[in-house]
Amino acid sequence: MSKFYRLLLVGAPGVGKGTYSVRAATALQCAAISSGDLLRKEVTNKTEIGKKLQSMIEGGVLVPDEIISGMVASHLKELKQSNQFPGGYILDGYPRNVNQAKTLWDSKEIQVDHVINLTQPRNVIVTKLSSRRCCADCGFVYNCAKINEGGIVMDPLMPKTEGVCDKCGSTKPLVTRKDDQLDVVEKRQSEYEALATPLLEFYESKRILHNFEVLGGTKVYLPKLLDLIKSL
Ligand code: ADP
Repeated sequence: MSKFYRLLLVGAPGVGKGTYSVRAATALQCAAISSGDLLRKEVTNKTEIGKKLQSMIEGGVLVPDEIISGMVASHLKELKQSNQFPGGYILDGYPRNVNQAKTLWDSKEIQVDHVINLTQPRNVIVTKLSSRRCCADCGFVYNCAKINEGGIVMDPLMPKTEGVCDKCGSTKPLVTRKDDQLDVVEKRQSEYEALATPLLEFYESKRILHNFEVLGGTKVYLPKLLDLIKSL
């Protein structure tokens, strides 16, 4: 019988959480659940909640814990009812502080068996973020930079067919997210570091934390990550 994964990927903004979680989820027939994507969808669809939270999301400010906790739980419930993902789920971006982690730990609706902490040197992350581009319709992430810093070499990651999104087929030009502007990037990195230490300590104390260093592109590191996940 194939495994049912209940995973959380953590890591600084820009480390590749979104990229790895979507690609690993596809390989494992899991749902990739990104809290940032769920929130941006509310903004794009101009829902009441989206209008209320838009400036926080675009300014890199964390939205209130209850809102995101409720949003992820109800999304997961819908996914479970749809029976589309026999492999389980990979959470990305939620929880990102101890309060959210404790809510999740006590939750009956969402369980996490393993947490994978993606790490990468900060200078590489900042270069990558300033070159990040997204699909205007579904938010799928690409990168137009060729990185060669401190021994880390990463090729650009662009749509397989030029001008067509790999995920949703949109032909709209790729866009830069407002929160990928340099001043917001720096703010998000510092905010992340302050929150990440206690979050990682929480999962370490539960003995489900696994560190994974990303020192190259997805071509080499996605198979390595999948090997790690399958070994858990
Ligand atoms: P990144 O991983 O690059 O920070 P995300 O797409 O995960 O970007 O998040 C974008 C924005 O959405 C965050 O800056 C924040 O405003 C909001 N957000 C996402 N996840 C959470 C969360 N778990 N708790 C609170 N706010 C969140």
